[in-house]
Amino acid sequence: MSDVYVRFWGVRGSVPTPGPETRRYGGNTSCVEVRLGPHRLVFDAGTGIRPLGREWLRSRRPLTAHLFLSHLHFDHLCGLPFFAPLRDPAHRFRLWCGHLRARGTTLAATLAQLVCQPFFPIPLEALAARLEYRDFRAGETLEPEPGVVVRTAPLRHPGGATGYRVEYGGRILCYVTDTEHEEGVRDPAVTALIRDADLVIYDCTYTDEEFPRFRGWGHSTWQEGVRLVEAAGAGRLVVFHHHPDRDDDALDAIAAELERRRPGSRVAREGLVLSL
Ligand SMILES: [Zn+2]
Ligand SMILES: [Zn+2]
Repeated sequence: MSDVYVRFWGVRGSVPTPGPETRRYGGNTSCVEVRLGPHRLVFDAGTGIRPLGREWLRSRRPLTAHLFLSHLHFDHLCGLPFFAPLRDPAHRFRLWCGHLRARGTTLAATLAQLVCQPFFPIPLEALAARLEYRDFRAGETLEPEPGVVVRTAPLRHPGGATGYRVEYGGRILCYVTDTEHEEGVRDPAVTALIRDADLVIYDCTYTDEEFPRFRGWGHSTWQEGVRLVEAAGAGRLVVFHHHPDRDDDALDAIAAELERRRPGSRVAREGLVLSL
C-alpha cells in the first residue's frame, strides 16, 4: 500500500443506519481517515470515528492527529465523545473548523454547549487527551504539518460548511460534503477547489431524479459529482454521505451506473481503502 491513502470509517449521511439492509456499505455516519506518510488527518467525527479510535489504540503509541470538521451537524459530530483516544493523556489532537468565525463564535465554545449536561455526562475538557482548537474562515489555506497544504472553501449548506483540498507530495484529494448545487450550474467554489484533484469525495445524498423534491436541503447528487469532476479535470469520484434510506442494493445500482459513466470511480463503503 502507498504511504498516502484514504480509509472510510463512516459513509452515511444524516443519521446512523445499522441493520441488514445496510450491512455491506455500512451505517456509520461521516468519518474519513487520511494518511499522508507520517501524518494522520481525520475528516468529520460521525459515528465512524469510534471504530477508527479503537484501531488507532492498537498501535499503543502516542498519537498526534488533526481533525477537520466540515460543520457541526449531529451526523458529523456525534461520534466525537466516543473517540477512545480522547480519554488518554498520551495523545494530542488539533480540531479545525471553518464556518463558525463568520457567525461570531468558536469551535471550543460551541462544543462546550453540546458536550455537557443534559446532553452528555461530562464536558469534552474532562477527557484526558490534549486538545487544541483552530478556528479559521472557509477560504483560507492551512498548513497543519510541514509539507501538508489544506485549501478550503465555503459550501452551500444550511448554517454553512467547509470543503477541503489536501495537497501532499504532489497528490491531491478533496473532501466536499455537505453541499448543494444549483441545477445546470457548476458551483465555481467547488470546481476551483477540486481542480485537477486525484480523488474527490463528494456529497451524493440524492440522485438527479430525487433532487427537485429536496431543493434547499443542502445536499447534492452523484450525477452532479460526475459533472463536477469532469468540469474540473479531476480523477476518481467517491460517492459519499449516502441517504439513510439508500440500502445496499440501491447503492449497488448506483455503483454499476457510476462505473459506466466514470470508470474507476467508487461508491464509498466502510472499510474501503484507496491509495493515492
Ligand atoms: Zn451530513
Ligand atoms: Zn449538514
